This record gives sequence, structure tokens and C-alpha cells, in this order.
Amino acid sequence: MPAPPCASCHEARAALRRPRSGLALCGACFCAAFEAEVLHTVEAGRLLPPGAVVAVGASGGKDSTVLAHVLRELAPRLDVSLRLVAVDEGIGGYRDAALAAVRRQAARWELPLTVVAYADLFGGWTMDAVARSTAGSGRSRACCTFCGVLRRRALEEGARLVGATHIVTGHNADDMAETVLMNFLRGDAGRLARGGGLGSPGEGGALPRCRPLQLASQKEVVLYAHFRRLDYFSEECVYAPEAFRGHARDLLKLLEAARPSAVLDLVHSAERLALHPAAQPPPPGACSRCGALASRPLCQACALLDGLNRGRPRLAIGKGRRGLDEEAPREPEREGGPALASSRTVPTF
Ligand code: SF4
Repeated sequence: MPAPPCASCHEARAALRRPRSGLALCGACFCAAFEAEVLHTVEAGRLLPPGAVVAVGASGGKDSTVLAHVLRELAPRLDVSLRLVAVDEGIGGYRDAALAAVRRQAARWELPLTVVAYADLFGGWTMDAVARSTAGSGRSRACCTFCGVLRRRALEEGARLVGATHIVTGHNADDMAETVLMNFLRGDAGRLARGGGLGSPGEGGALPRCRPLQLASQKEVVLYAHFRRLDYFSEECVYAPEAFRGHARDLLKLLEAARPSAVLDLVHSAERLALHPAAQPPPPGACSRCGALASRPLCQACALLDGLNRGRPRLAIGKGRRGLDEEAPREPEREGGPALASSRTVPTF
């Protein structure tokens, strides 16, 4: 049976059914609708003011590739300029190929690209060195926890290097729903209450961040990349199979099979959550090491690096974190870790 006509242009044959609405569209009309929806998200949420210099967190994967492409299409209308900022976490057998994809995109789309590396920013630590250091400590499954905190800091540094006023990341609706589920499963009420909305306004001197694809489903991100013939890197990080996020993803798939609106329901639920006044944490202050926003004496990144430099990564996350805030730093135990170029154990950001 031939495909039905496109429900938008009524000329071409439909090439897909939109997963949420069921609307049958041709590839061109779907891409136009997708771009219009991202534009609406940005304009309605006032995410990027005219004149903004926008650092796009570019990983080479489908989400950031689609984000960069869509924003490049929308840039004249939004009156913003774009810079690609990629983070090299130092993951052998994975990141080099992903960075090659980012370099191809930057060349094809004529966008300036800056790459910042964990090894340069964090006193020689790469993710591979972190993984070696955490192996056997009972925290080896927490690589993504370390990586997420360090990458956030690295992206901020890269964005400042290129003179950006705003940071955008490619998180889609499925990513955000997984994050909500993970925070529920961990009982992390503070993160749940802070995780709503389309980004953060830039507290404590940090650059404002937003997620223009947050309302787009992963399926549609993949479809957009397909119809626009985008070149992206699709292999999974070598540490991803260990991540807790994988369990949240499996659970989300089961929920979505039973209730197709589950992904967006979870995303919007985070927007409506608020902590009871009695459960509110104290207002954040500044990290005593680097000055970044912190709810404890050390910000998360400095605490993680401190634990790694002491050869005690298990202290860096969870309840043991208290020890790091209270103990005086001592000479790092380097076994399994990288050799530092200087005696500085925690970098200045
Ligand atoms: Fe980092 Fe984990 Fe992502 Fe790998 S999967 S890049 S370790 S956050």
C-alpha cells in the first residue's frame, strides 16, 4: 500500500508518522516542524536573548549534532552567534573518534571550534585515569558521576575561553526523564526540585545554561538527523554500560510502552516539584578552592579532584564527601593516577 500524502504539504508522500501526534509527514515538512518547535521552545522560554554568544556543547553524538544544526538554521532569526565547544575527557578508544566527527561538523558548517581537555584543566586527570583509580574502590561504577561533574566544569571553562554569554546542551526529553527517574530512585529531593525548567539562569557567576531540545523526543532527534543527513558519531562510551542511567533508561522504556506520555509527564513533573520550606537546603555559597557555587565548603568538582588526588576516590561522592570538606589536603598518592606537571593538586578554574 502506498504511503499516504504528507498531512502538511499534501504534495509529497509521507515518510514517517510523528511518534507523539501520529501525524504523517514527508521528511521536509517534519524537519521544518521540528525546527519551528525548537524555535518556539527558545523564544517562549526566553532562553537566548538577541546578541547572545552561544557555546554549543558538542560531543559529536546525535543530540549535540542536531542541536548545533538546528541552531545554525535558526541563528539569523534569533540573532545569536554560535561557537562549538568540545570536551576531551581522555577516554581511549572512544573520544578521539567522536572529536573527529565534531571537527568535520565545524569545518562543514564553518563554526569556530574549541576543544578543552580534562588533562589540561584538572591537573593531569583523564577519565581513563579516574577509572583506574576508582577500580576496586567500590566506586568503579560511578565513572559517569565523576565525568558529569568534571564535564560541566570543563564546558563552563571552554565557554568562557570563547567569550560565550550562554551555554546550550543537547539533552532531549528522554535524557531529562531519565534524570528525573534517577533522582527519584536515589531519593535526591534537592536535585529533583532544582531540575525543572529548561535550564539554569547562571547563579553565582556561572554562565546561563539551557536545553533547547528538552521537549523533543529521542526518536524525533534521530529522525531529524536522518532526514537532514547529519554526520554524527553513534558509538557508546566504554564506561556507559556501568552507568546507573542505563537502568533508568530500561525502566523508562517499560513505562513508555504502558503509557506513551510517560517521558513528557516526567519532564513536566520536575517543573512542578518544590521543596517544602523545612526541607530547603541553606543558600549556596562559594567554593573555598575555586570560588564556584557550592553548597558545602568545596564544590563538587574540587571535592572529586581532592578525593582522586588523595588516592581516596570513594570519599569524593556520597556520604563520605563530608570527610573531604573537613580534612586538610595531603600529598596525593599517585599509584594508578597520572603524573602531575606541578605540585598543584587542584586546578584553579
Ligand atoms: Fe563520561 Fe559516562 Fe558519558 Fe562516558 S558515558 S562520556 S564516562 S558521562
